[in-house]
Amino acid sequence: MQSTERISTKLGKFAPSLTLALKSVVRHRRAEGLPVYDFGLGETRGELHPAIRAAGEKAFREGRTMYADPAGTPELRRAVIDWLGLADHYGPENVVITTGAKQALFNVFLATCNPADCVLFDAAPWVSYQPLAVAAYAFPVAVLPLEGHSNYLKVSPADLERNLAARPHTRLFLLNNPCNPTGQLYSAAEVESLLRVCCRYGVYMVLDRLYWRIVYEAGGYPEPPIDDETRPWLLQVDGMSKNFRSTGGMRIGWSVGPDDVTKAMINLQSHYTSGPAVPDQAAAVAALTHDYDPEMVHDLRRKRDLLRLHAEGMPHVEIWPTPASFYSFWNVAGCLGKRTPSGETIAGADDVSRYLLEEAGVVTASGRAFLQEGFLRLSFTTSDEDIVQGMAAAHEALGRLI
Ligand code: PLP
Repeated sequence: MQSTERISTKLGKFAPSLTLALKSVVRHRRAEGLPVYDFGLGETRGELHPAIRAAGEKAFREGRTMYADPAGTPELRRAVIDWLGLADHYGPENVVITTGAKQALFNVFLATCNPADCVLFDAAPWVSYQPLAVAAYAFPVAVLPLEGHSNYLKVSPADLERNLAARPHTRLFLLNNPCNPTGQLYSAAEVESLLRVCCRYGVYMVLDRLYWRIVYEAGGYPEPPIDDETRPWLLQVDGMSKNFRSTGGMRIGWSVGPDDVTKAMINLQSHYTSGPAVPDQAAAVAALTHDYDPEMVHDLRRKRDLLRLHAEGMPHVEIWPTPASFYSFWNVAGCLGKRTPSGETIAGADDVSRYLLEEAGVVTASGRAFLQEGFLRLSFTTSDEDIVQGMAAAHEALGRLI
C-alpha cells in the first residue's frame, strides 16, 4: 500500500530554523512602525571588506563561472589550510569547500553515520544540529553535564564517557567551541581531554569552530592537538560566516579531516551541489589570505561590555560571562512562574522571549531552540543605540513581572 502522506515522516516534523524566523519577526515589526531592538539573529554586520568585494567582482568580470572541482577551488583549499595553521598536518586534499558550515556538518553526518547511529552534541546544541542529524537518519543526543549549570553547561570528559559507554552505536561527538548559544570557550586542556576520550572510544570528534577568531581572552583560540592518535578521529568545520563583517550570505564553509572521510564527502558533494559558487570562493580566498583585521573583534568586545554595563541589575535574570563569540546567554529561570501586567503566567523561555518582544520590542532567541528551557540568547552584533535602548526597555518590562 502506498503512503498517503505527501511529506516524509522525517521532514514532516521539521520546523523552520528559529533564528531565521526571527528575521521575519523583525521585518514585520519594523514595517508596522513598532520599536525593535534586535538581539535575535547571529549575524555579523557592517561593511564588507573591500578586498573580499573586489575579488568577487573580479571573478565575475573574468568569467570565472564555469563548473569547478566539487571539492572546491585549489586556491581556496590551500588558503583554508593556511588560515587554520594546519600546514604541518594536512594538505589541500583534506579540505572540502561547502555551501556554508551547515553543509559541511551535513556532509559529516552523511559520510559517517549509518541509520540510527547516535550522534552526541554538547548540552546546548546550536539549532540546526538536530535537524541535520535527523535528516541524515542519525539519532541525536545532547550530553547533559552532571554538574548542571555550574560550569556554564560545558561537557566534561566524564560526562562524555558516561554517554559513550551507554550508547555503543555512537559515531561522533560534536563540540562547538566557541559555543553558540552559551558564548563559552573550552580551554585547550578541556578540548584535548574530550578529544582523547573520543579517540579511545573510536568515535569522531567534530569540532565546529565557526567563531574561532572571536575570542576575547588572552591566549586566543585553544587549538586541538593533532598527532597520530587524534588525526584519524578529528574533523574540523569552519567557514566565512562569522569571523568577517557581513559574510553570512556568501555561503562558504569548509571541513578539514582525515583522507577517507574527506574523500567520501567529496564523492557525495559531487552529486548534490558540485561545490559552492566559484566567484564566492574567489572572494573567500581574498578574505583568508589578507592579514586578519581584528577591528571587528575589538568592536564586538566593546559591544559585549556595553551590553553588560546597561544590563546591570536586570530583574530576575542572571547573565553569563561571554569569553568568546557574540552571544550573551541569560538564565531567566527567575522569571518563570511570574505574572505579566496583563495577568499571564510566564511558564518557559518562549514566554519570556515573547513577552520581551511584545512589551519592549526586544528580540531574543528562546533557549528552548537550544534545548535549554529557562535561558535566552542575545546576539550583540546590533547597533550601540539598540543595545543601550534595548537594555533599558528590557529592564523596564522585566521589572513589571510580579
Ligand atoms: N555552526 C554554528 C555554531 C553556527 O552558529 C552556525 C550559524 O549560525 C553554523 C554552524 C552554520 O553556519 P553557516 O551560516 O556558515 O552555514
